[in-house]
Amino acid sequence: MKRTPLDEWIFQKHGIRTDDRQAVASYQLERIRELIGYARSRSPFYRQLYGGAALPASMEAFSRFPTVHAGDLTARGYQMLCVSQSEIARIVTLRTSGTTQAPKRVYFTRDDVDLTLDFFENGMKTLGGSGDRALILFPAKAPESVGDLLSEALRRLGMTVCCEEGDGAVRRLLCEPVDIVCGSASRLLGVASGTRGVPIRAVLSSSEPLSEDGRAALQSAWRCRVFDHFGMTETGYGGAVECEAHEGMHIRENDLYFEVIDGDGRRLPDGTPGELAVTTLTRRGMPLIRYRTGDRAVLSGEDCPCGSRLRRILKVERMTPCR
Ligand SMILES: [Zn+2]
Repeated sequence: MKRTPLDEWIFQKHGIRTDDRQAVASYQLERIRELIGYARSRSPFYRQLYGGAALPASMEAFSRFPTVHAGDLTARGYQMLCVSQSEIARIVTLRTSGTTQAPKRVYFTRDDVDLTLDFFENGMKTLGGSGDRALILFPAKAPESVGDLLSEALRRLGMTVCCEEGDGAVRRLLCEPVDIVCGSASRLLGVASGTRGVPIRAVLSSSEPLSEDGRAALQSAWRCRVFDHFGMTETGYGGAVECEAHEGMHIRENDLYFEVIDGDGRRLPDGTPGELAVTTLTRRGMPLIRYRTGDRAVLSGEDCPCGSRLRRILKVERMTPCR
């Protein structure tokens, strides 16, 4: 079994051996201290949230910092910005379907977008590489949409990429050889039902939780290996991706710090279900610090059968319809 490529990526990029959990924790605490100082000096929202509080001296101290809610993002998102409007490369507007709530807006600089691209390129090495043919079912027309970024990442790996948002996906799979298919769980299942028996080597499922039944249906239709990915707009799309062990998704711990918390914002022990809170360690445009995602999750710090000690999300339940 191949180890997750994220370990090697983090070592090449930051010089951190992820087997050394102390080194990862020191790196994360350093980023968090820097981030809080940065956000407080540049954003009216974070200035008011933290006031004159001392920077956290430990992760334990950080776990007592206030959380940020989706409502804050809706009502005061613009005040979370840490750069001028001219430095923003992409704005994603999230609307909650079926409600009249104001939309959430998430802002990214060019560097923020590049961080996601880098994660996609390295995380996708589990599924394939140079010479493979990939079909992307995510929306890809808008520049820097999830499909567009994933396409660019796969091209960087030397793959041939095509994107099909509509009915063309079934036709293409029936006519052309494809090695890898990427899409949301529901879209993958829809396309698979019309292309049973077509051989696919690997599938990336994202955007929606993948049920065990859904995974089994994809495996049966395409005789493929299925890799789950967790990401949301607030994490810059990319978040965590499965390795060949298929026992949870390895978190991109160089860019994101995940906690599972209770209703009062207190961090819960690994293995305990609770609300997932995210801190974006390296985001410059609009950092999120202890941001409550509204999703229920279970985290694990145990060693993975693939040999990695990179932390994993074992389970995610989406509580919010808006992605
Ligand atoms: Zn693993």
